[in-house]
Amino acid sequence: MKLLVTGGAGYIGSIVAQQLLGAGHEVVVLDSLERGHRAAVPDGARLLELSLLDAEGVRDAVAEGFDGALHFAAFALVGESVLRPELYYRNNVVGSLNLLDALRSAGVQRLVFSSTCAVYGEPEVVPMDELTPTRPVNSYGASKLAVDGMITDECRAHGLGAVSLRYFNVAGASGHLGEDHYPETHLIPNVLRAAQGRQDAVKIFGTDYPTPDGTAVRDYVHIEDLAHAHVLALEATRPSEHRIFNLGSGDGYSVREVIEAVRTVTGLDVPAQEADRRPGDPPRLVAANGKVRAELGWSPTKSLTDMVADAWRFAQERPLGYGG
Ligand code: UDP
Repeated sequence: MKLLVTGGAGYIGSIVAQQLLGAGHEVVVLDSLERGHRAAVPDGARLLELSLLDAEGVRDAVAEGFDGALHFAAFALVGESVLRPELYYRNNVVGSLNLLDALRSAGVQRLVFSSTCAVYGEPEVVPMDELTPTRPVNSYGASKLAVDGMITDECRAHGLGAVSLRYFNVAGASGHLGEDHYPETHLIPNVLRAAQGRQDAVKIFGTDYPTPDGTAVRDYVHIEDLAHAHVLALEATRPSEHRIFNLGSGDGYSVREVIEAVRTVTGLDVPAQEADRRPGDPPRLVAANGKVRAELGWSPTKSLTDMVADAWRFAQERPLGYGG
């Protein structure tokens, strides 16, 4: 298929683009490069440097014709979304609406959307399935939920076939591609920086959670497993339907367990410092992944150790990220 990948210069989009190329698809990346990296666009993909906020530009770009689109372009920093909600609604919601308009004009019939477990907020029942009430607690989650709603309506009204994948905590690297955010807020890259001595210590946000070791528990899924789910999702779109799947490994690990995994993989001492809870961080988020297993035939193949080992390889290869 000829596929459009928005946000294909970012962490997740670039690695999905790489897998799609590997599966024999033709890939065009659409990315503003505002937060993405030119060096992350995989060899073999064509890059269109364009913002989704440029409605006319996007319409013209999509008019060349595509069999499907995978939509990753978004701002994704939870803390920033709380401080600057307008940025998140404009970029994530308006940008997605422009994309839907362009897809409709060009008659593109398949869409895979990068959604998030942040749409569920702080759930009462964990593990979380797709029927968990959606009550986002930050503007990032709210913006993604708004787009999910727009996609549902687009499918119903205009016949689009779409799949939303609601990711849990994505980690690891693939080949020469990996995670490079600024600022870096995610746990595994920050623990690796502390291991490399590039920051004094990793902060453990909260040691008084109602969890076995007092630190927050998350469901980590390897980027390559996650990317594979997109290849499956693309084949699983059905006209006029919006299919929604939670995408996580189903296993939870605490912050202390992740730090321990980094110590084991790297053989280095990782200085850690206990700190207050980060506002808005729920104690435990773990996916119930029965639906994606049953309906897409997906299952995770990689462990937390694999994720840490691959992220460590990327951190050593590019200690300063793509800009280094
Ligand atoms: N965390 C931490 N120290 C850090 C970064 C994250 O203790 O430097 C914790 C964070 O509070 C959360 C977990 O690690 O409980 C995963 O955080 P991350 O930002 O990676 O993903 P999130 O779950 O927020 O999407």
